[in-house]
Amino acid sequence: MQSWASPHVPSLPGASGPLWLHDTATDMVRPTTPGPTATIYVCGITPYDATHLGHAATYLAFDLVQRVWLDGGRAVHYVQNITDIDDPLLQRAERDGLDWRDLAANQIQLFREDMAALRVLPPRDYIGAVEAMDEVSGAVARLLEMGAAYRVEDAEHPDVYFDVAAAPKFGYESRYDLATMLALAAERGGDPDRPGKRNALDPGLWRMPREGEPFWDSTMGPGRPGWHIECSVIAGNRLGPTIDLQGGGSDLIFPHHECSAAHSEVLTGVVPFARHYTHAAMIALDGEKMSKSRGNLVFVSRLRADGVDPMAIRLALLSGHYRQDRAWTDQLLDQATARLADWRRAANRQGSDAATVLHGLRSALTDDLDTPAAIELLDRWAADDGLAGGVVADAVDALLGIALH
Ligand code: ZN
Repeated sequence: MQSWASPHVPSLPGASGPLWLHDTATDMVRPTTPGPTATIYVCGITPYDATHLGHAATYLAFDLVQRVWLDGGRAVHYVQNITDIDDPLLQRAERDGLDWRDLAANQIQLFREDMAALRVLPPRDYIGAVEAMDEVSGAVARLLEMGAAYRVEDAEHPDVYFDVAAAPKFGYESRYDLATMLALAAERGGDPDRPGKRNALDPGLWRMPREGEPFWDSTMGPGRPGWHIECSVIAGNRLGPTIDLQGGGSDLIFPHHECSAAHSEVLTGVVPFARHYTHAAMIALDGEKMSKSRGNLVFVSRLRADGVDPMAIRLALLSGHYRQDRAWTDQLLDQATARLADWRRAANRQGSDAATVLHGLRSALTDDLDTPAAIELLDRWAADDGLAGGVVADAVDALLGIALH
């Protein structure tokens, strides 16, 4: 699938050092250790309701990862999927009287426009589940042959499930206890109570067609894939058996990333699937996490239509740390708008060399993307009339993705 146009990234003197990031599987901030080409997979949207500020905050966090790696002299191979066939998409299309394909196409286009406006670097491979259908069904067939998957005991709908017992390290990514895993599986699209499964936590791999649902042919018979296997296969086939980073929102820790890792590790025999599992926190509105189920969403496209500068949206979301759950407020946006104006004035300034600001900015970002520290440093730069714009303006653009000119 076509992604979106890449913003220009100014090159800077010198280079970032190693990027340290939090890893959920070890609960440690550890250095990332990419080779000449860093590999990153970030889970994409289900295109029925793009792009609220929670999405935007997640993609911005991983955009900074890409920017810091690039500044450190690495090439980056970034893959993102689009879950363009799944229950929520079908349900929303039915509710609104739309063809699910039209709904998906419209929302994907909106997402692209939002990402381009926010100056998010595009993935090299932007892959829809539908276009990867043969890859995914082939992987499910292999898991069945390997004995790591089975058909549920249901004469009418003998859907294929993954046997979590085939993945000996299952649970290592989230480190959740069984009760938490069961609760989250039920809450987030799993079906722990379905009769005929070997283990309540076994996730679906291939779902036989129900009345009126779209389906694709495969060696298992017609059907459509589960969500977790989609990401395992799209990532693994493009980035290899172990990637430097799998990213997403913290609501993907379980079951999505746990199951994606388990599928991949059983398919390839290589553990771990990702050297870092890194998760961005949630954005709240009026005291509640912003989510589709609660319906308290603020959309990037709505703010843009209201004339808000996308760079102010970007700066507002980056003013909190990516791992800190935080609230979206009008005040936050006003503060970011005022800060952006200050920085833009400073960007055009003549004055003494501000190379130490560049050094400080790199130090903050390589320390687990400490954007609050980076912003504090830049506020001090903007307030000092003796310091030049020059390289700092380029650094704000290259490293934080905020264009000041
Ligand atoms: Zn995913």
